[in-house]
Amino acid sequence: MESENSNNNIPSSTIFCSNCGIQIPKETPYCIKCGVSTGKTFIYESPKTSGMAIASLICSVVGFFICFFVGQILGIIFGYQARKEIQESQGRLTGEGLATAGIIVGWIGIALDILIIAIWGLFGFGLYI
Ligand SMILES: [Zn+2]
Repeated sequence: MESENSNNNIPSSTIFCSNCGIQIPKETPYCIKCGVSTGKTFIYESPKTSGMAIASLICSVVGFFICFFVGQILGIIFGYQARKEIQESQGRLTGEGLATAGIIVGWIGIALDILIIAIWGLFGFGLYI
């Protein structure tokens, strides 16, 4: 079983070919002697960025600029889902930073929206004319 942290600091080591038994570098997709697929390298393919994480940041940023709750709420939901998806991907998905940024920008946007609504409530809509 791969632990959750298997994608961090993988030591450069070797694996044994399941066909001929020779030692080959872990990152090699095919055995250098018999050419059989090692099958182990799949997990170490360059990880893809979670589409959900990208969607999270886009929704939050768009929501931020148009001052509207929907974008930010979607951004926060996508952000939490993306982080779950990334944690469960065993290193095949990245973008946790994007997802976290989406969540943070989403919450800041919601706070600003509430602030703007509060200012509107205090000073009236005339402030924005
Ligand atoms: Zn082999």
